[in-house]
Amino acid sequence: MTEEIRKLVIAGSGVAGLSAAVYAARADLDPLVLEGDEPGGQLTLTTDVENYLGFPEGVGGMELILRGKEQAEQFGAEFQHGSIEAAGLNGQPLELSLSTGDTVYTWALIVATGASARWVDAENEDELMGHGLSTCATCDGAFHRGDDVLIAGGGDSAMEEAVFLAKFADNVTVVHRREELRASKITADRAREHDDTEFARNTELVTIQGSQEDGVTGATLVSHPNGYPREKYEAGGDVATEDFGVGGVFYAVGHEPNTDFLRETPVDLDKDGYVQTADTGDAWATTATATDGVFAAGDVMDREYQQAVTAAGTGSMAALDVEDWLESAAEVATDSTEPIATEADD
Ligand SMILES: Cc1cc2nc3c(=O)[nH]c(=O)nc-3n(C[C@H](O)[C@H](O)[C@H](O)COP(=O)(O)OP(=O)(O)OC[C@H]3O[C@@H](n4cnc5c(N)ncnc54)[C@H](O)[C@@H]3O)c2cc1C
Repeated sequence: MTEEIRKLVIAGSGVAGLSAAVYAARADLDPLVLEGDEPGGQLTLTTDVENYLGFPEGVGGMELILRGKEQAEQFGAEFQHGSIEAAGLNGQPLELSLSTGDTVYTWALIVATGASARWVDAENEDELMGHGLSTCATCDGAFHRGDDVLIAGGGDSAMEEAVFLAKFADNVTVVHRREELRASKITADRAREHDDTEFARNTELVTIQGSQEDGVTGATLVSHPNGYPREKYEAGGDVATEDFGVGGVFYAVGHEPNTDFLRETPVDLDKDGYVQTADTGDAWATTATATDGVFAAGDVMDREYQQAVTAAGTGSMAALDVEDWLESAAEVATDSTEPIATEADD
């Protein structure tokens, strides 16, 4: 048996992967895009995107993704179902084992697998995500001018979201399950400076009310003076329950980069699992990792901005960096789709 070696595989079909695919396909790198378990990525979870350049009326998240995919396919990008489950990245060619059972060989890999926002597991969250429930205040805060909103979380990102939402909302309530906030004093102080921001300590969200037509209309909170009230509520314990009228709920309990398949590889991950790109001093230093042929783009390598337009930006950078790298790396410069013998030949 022989296997084709691809010039480039892009892991992830979110906005970063699609942007990389458009650039790579136009540069004749014949990219194969692995769609993962969530084809189209996080933007498919939202209705309106108002801050992506070029759409003054806003654009639906799904529409933006479908148009991006069409654009990439038009230039020759190929899409395939499945996720990378394991990767052999110790030498060329790179070997990717997929959830479909297939193995793909490639000279270059762009990891664009995103970082999934953690959810709090409140009742109705599946139905209301993108309909008044959000994981991104920068993205959706402006839809809540004049609303009362609630933020679940007590860390630095929850405080930053609170400060941001205070610009639009009438009242911001930060719901935190313990007495003490996890946030640093400086970010917590910034949030406290806003008179219209309140803190519900020892309190947790259990249900969100509303519908996809009407959006979020309320939330049910439970509280207990000793903290962690939800555990007690679910065990039938004595907790206070309150229904709260709100027009929006924001989850700010962290993100989980989708990098499990890189844990046993030489690719550097930071303490939270985000891919670390290397500063090698080479032209392709921005999105390259320290592992030959492995590049990263989008939320999986950018814990700071996590926006569609920044993910698209790093996606295009990664494709340009791969193009440069393929031209420069002598051992992969020619005959990149030449069949190779695999272990199955032995
Ligand atoms: C509800 C919501 C609303 C938002 N609204 C906005 C907005 O209005 N404006 C804005 O700028 N941003 C918004 N964002 C943020 C924006 O969606 C992200 O910044 C952007 O999607 C990141 O793109 P990405 O391609 O890096 O990752 P993702 O979109 O997360 O895509 C990751 C891709 O990787 C795939 N994948 C995962 N693991 C594997 C694997 N092992 N192998 C292969 N593939 C894999 C997934 O299936 C998916 O296709 C919003 C996010 C959410 C959740």
